[in-house]
Amino acid sequence: MNSSVNLLKNLPAIDKLLQSKNLSAQIDKFGQKSVKDEGRRQIADLREAILASDDGSIAWLSAPDFFDEFCGKISAAVQAQYSSSLIPVFNLTGTVIHTNLGRASLPAEAVEAMVTAATNATNLEYDLHTGKRGDRDSHLEQAICEMTGAQAATVVNNNAAAVLLVLNTLALHKEVIISRGELVEIGGAFRIPDVMASASCKLREVGTTNRTHLKDYAQAINDDTGLLMKVHTSNYEIRGFTNSVAESDLSELARERDIPFVSDLGSGSLVDLRQFNLPHEPTVKDTIDMGADLITFSGDKLLGGPQAGIIVGRRDLIERVKSNPLKRALRVDKITMAALLAVINIYKDPQRLDSRLPMLADLARPLAEIEEVATAVLGPVAERLKGRATVSVQDCKSQIGSGALPLDLMSSRALCLTPIAEKGKTDEALQRLSLGFRSLPKPVVGRVSDGQLFFDLRCLRNIDEFLQQLPQLAD
Ligand SMILES: *Cc1c(COP(=O)(O)O)cnc(C)c1O
Repeated sequence: MNSSVNLLKNLPAIDKLLQSKNLSAQIDKFGQKSVKDEGRRQIADLREAILASDDGSIAWLSAPDFFDEFCGKISAAVQAQYSSSLIPVFNLTGTVIHTNLGRASLPAEAVEAMVTAATNATNLEYDLHTGKRGDRDSHLEQAICEMTGAQAATVVNNNAAAVLLVLNTLALHKEVIISRGELVEIGGAFRIPDVMASASCKLREVGTTNRTHLKDYAQAINDDTGLLMKVHTSNYEIRGFTNSVAESDLSELARERDIPFVSDLGSGSLVDLRQFNLPHEPTVKDTIDMGADLITFSGDKLLGGPQAGIIVGRRDLIERVKSNPLKRALRVDKITMAALLAVINIYKDPQRLDSRLPMLADLARPLAEIEEVATAVLGPVAERLKGRATVSVQDCKSQIGSGALPLDLMSSRALCLTPIAEKGKTDEALQRLSLGFRSLPKPVVGRVSDGQLFFDLRCLRNIDEFLQQLPQLAD
């Protein structure tokens, strides 16, 4: 007991900590309150440890470096409180538009526009000509319409919101006719039947899983029908004995029966991707030309912009969508609008798209360039993992991701890491190796398959940054 009392006397006083040179930089940076609160917390922890110990276990307190080390501990804890858990990573998964890794990276033009919008008052909803309230959508509508050939457009928080809003506006308490083969689930929370229920619509499935015909839709139409809907089967493909109804046929049927036809494109590309040697995906313009009344698509999938949901189509329907009170809850802010507009403007110069949009640059990256990356990283990674894993370069296939073209794969090169371990311990070694790479300052996220760790090098741009952190890989 006596020794504890003595040790307690040695606890540093909070004032002494706050006045010490060791913490002055952190006080300047984060303010006195944060450092003081953390200092008090750590002193209290130390006091508790002293009281709980027999005697000698708090030898640290009388060590010569104690004060400096204690300040260092406080300093690190304060720093940690302010550091974000949202950090950049290397996406070497081979899925370019990876939803869990934040989808598209934005071009410099969009970032600049976001900063300007964020740091200034803007005419977001203010008409500079009349001096009266303006329309938030006006800034984007014209550009989107020019790009897609649509009569009108509006933008919400994401495509899930776009689908929800369209359903709720046009088919509240009514039936929505959709093919059984298109009741998609996109990553957990977005499932068409659930979205229908949330929008207070009644799902009316027609056809079968593999085959749906025009007559199935036609026979299902009744007085209670709110709209006909087609949903892009983004992340799967039904093969074999199949039939689905073309957009053009559905829009004709919808027009005859005076019901709106809505197409949820999911990814929605603005340009024909074949010009970049990528697989064909119907563009928003194609779908409008085929007669869809409204189309919904994402801003951060194949468009390569910020998270947003874009709704385009007939002016009268867009007006109804805009006047739904839910629109207010789902609308985008000025920062997203600025980014989206900057990205859409890049599309006005279609030839250079693949050099100006980072997402498209990755998708269309020439194999020769990926091979150069492989050559540059193979040696250093092999050297770092000597004795722990064998490293080789292998052919692999990248995916577009985010539900775009699930079956179309692009040729790429990967570093293939095979752990060297005793029999029965390879799985553990593999997990440790992947965790090691994920624990680096800029985490490296790869793909584990067949007992090996693959780093698809398609999206690796900053080779130096990648190599410089290798020494920090845990052993
Ligand atoms: C991705 C996708 C959605 C959801 O879009 P978010 O932008 O992720 O909200 C909806 N429908 C389809 C067909 C999709 O592919």
